[in-house]
Amino acid sequence: MKIGIVGYGTAGQAAALFLARAGHDIDVFERSAELSPVGAGFLLQPTGFGVLAALDLDAAALSHGARIERLHGQNHRARTVMDMRYADFAAASFGLGMTRGALFSLLHERCREVASIRTGTRIDTIAADDRHVLDADGTAYGPYDLVVVADGSHSRLRGNSGLLRHDPVYPWGAMWCLLPADDWPHVADLRQRYDGTRTMFGALPVGHLPGHDGRRWLTYYYSLPGHAVDAFDAAALERMQCDVAALWPELAERTRALTDPARLHRARYRDVRLHRPWRGRVVWIGDSAHGMSPQLGQGVNMALLDAQALAAALAERTDPALALPDYARRRTGHVAIYQRLSRWLTPLFQSDSRVLAPLRDLCFGPLGRLPLARRQMLKILAGSKRDWWR
Ligand SMILES: Cc1cc2nc3c(=O)[nH]c(=O)nc-3n(C[C@H](O)[C@H](O)[C@H](O)COP(=O)(O)OP(=O)(O)OC[C@H]3O[C@@H](n4cnc5c(N)ncnc54)[C@H](O)[C@@H]3O)c2cc1C
Repeated sequence: MKIGIVGYGTAGQAAALFLARAGHDIDVFERSAELSPVGAGFLLQPTGFGVLAALDLDAAALSHGARIERLHGQNHRARTVMDMRYADFAAASFGLGMTRGALFSLLHERCREVASIRTGTRIDTIAADDRHVLDADGTAYGPYDLVVVADGSHSRLRGNSGLLRHDPVYPWGAMWCLLPADDWPHVADLRQRYDGTRTMFGALPVGHLPGHDGRRWLTYYYSLPGHAVDAFDAAALERMQCDVAALWPELAERTRALTDPARLHRARYRDVRLHRPWRGRVVWIGDSAHGMSPQLGQGVNMALLDAQALAAALAERTDPALALPDYARRRTGHVAIYQRLSRWLTPLFQSDSRVLAPLRDLCFGPLGRLPLARRQMLKILAGSKRDWWR
């Protein structure tokens, strides 16, 4: 098939690789003039790592990333709110902290050999025949046997699809950036600090940048209400540094080195729900289909799993009219569970609520010690919860 892919983030890159490997002819459209990743770093869950293994990229990912064994969260009274270890889920299990640049480069090195990538081309419309896509100047590309939309959480191609249930922007967002890890002691932990639900920040070891010089990095993120993300300036940077100094002096040494607010990226996210992720010959994958809050650290995972599932569905049924409903069936349960969990859990960490934080700080610790609840919490963390009751 001749396949057009809109968007060259993780979902678009992985889809291009899987589908090219199956023998399809791939055109990718990316609105950015220069190919580069957005943001700092992320935590890849075991399920997403499995997809990289299916692309023979696991060894390369390991050599760039940082093995994460534990998620630890503590409140302003130094009370442990969360302490989960991947090893309690499965002996050989771990998360992988990676810089965005490292994953982007690993996928790009392969993609550029097998797909035609057109940069600086923002696709604004899918033609009524579902076989052509049109850019901002009205130039049409195609015809395609299949169009894969992977244009992210703020997708332009979702609104008129007739499939949108809702996609509100979360009231809270975050600032985030890379910080040098150097002698950071918690090399295998994602660590977070909370004070109520209005203050949350964390540090995740993410290993190296692509073409690395041996230096290791941390992803640092700091939660803020949406309007404060949009208005983040030098005064806000100073307030952030004071918060960090008060709650986590060890990290404050590093955040003090941030002198320019422009060094931090702004992140706003949406809660995206579609009636179904396909229409005719067009399929939506990644954040464009199910953007969610990053609280559970699943978005990259989901993008990789979508791409793999789409290729598997097309391998079994070559006709898109049959393959796309099959793709939706493969992904619906998993996606729906994480969408719900994100929607429910995010206000426990990012909201104006006065009651949720005491409840969280009181319940999470004891819950995490009950074997059944702990098992479920670990399963959710590892990205492998596919069913509510089994
Ligand atoms: C602060 C933060 C922390 C996160 N942490 C984690 C984490 O720890 N673990 C995790 O798994 N996930 C995490 N995520 C979520 C994760 O980043 C996303 O889920 C993932 O990047 C989605 O990939 P995607 O390819 O669907 O979309 P994107 O990465 O957004 O890629 C979309 C691409 O499409 C391009 N594009 C957009 N519109 C058009 C258009 N009209 N035409 C052509 N091209 C277009 C964009 O330029 C972009 O390159 C985090 C997100 C945020 C904001």
